[in-house]
Amino acid sequence: MAKAAAVADGMVVSVHYTLKTEDGEVIDSSDGDEPLMYLHGAGNIVPGLEKQLAGHAVGDRVKAVVEPEDGYGEHSGDEPQMVPRTSFPEDADLYEGMEVMAQGPDGEMYPMWVVGLTDEHVLVDENHPLAGVTLHFDVQVTEIREATKEEIAHGHPHGPGAHAH
Ligand code: ZN
Repeated sequence: MAKAAAVADGMVVSVHYTLKTEDGEVIDSSDGDEPLMYLHGAGNIVPGLEKQLAGHAVGDRVKAVVEPEDGYGEHSGDEPQMVPRTSFPEDADLYEGMEVMAQGPDGEMYPMWVVGLTDEHVLVDENHPLAGVTLHFDVQVTEIREATKEEIAHGHPHGPGAHAH
């Protein structure tokens, strides 16, 4: 009998998951949806969860607690910033929780998140909405396969339910 595949770098892994806060509030879940498919070792999911899924096999249920430093980072003290709507493309479909790219003084790009909207302004925060939150994952591994060369080169899985180009 062949050895069962285990979650490792270079494997495309499908999981059903529920993500809760410490208080048991559901933040996100694949319930009633297709499983989430990701390329292991490519940073597609938060580092703390990736680490705790390594070595598991199809059918395994993994309860992972991920501290902010291995999740979406600590919450920085900087206040959200008001940016005029005119700084965004006219057809930008802005909504709360949306990730937008901002440009730093040296031209470097970094992500920010929309946390509020008025008629004329967009309130953006450099903190991910889940920064500072300890993440409680309940994960079931549903499928593991080897990634193709193309998937490794792109750093994400292809196929149904995966990244679309
Ligand atoms: Zn691709």
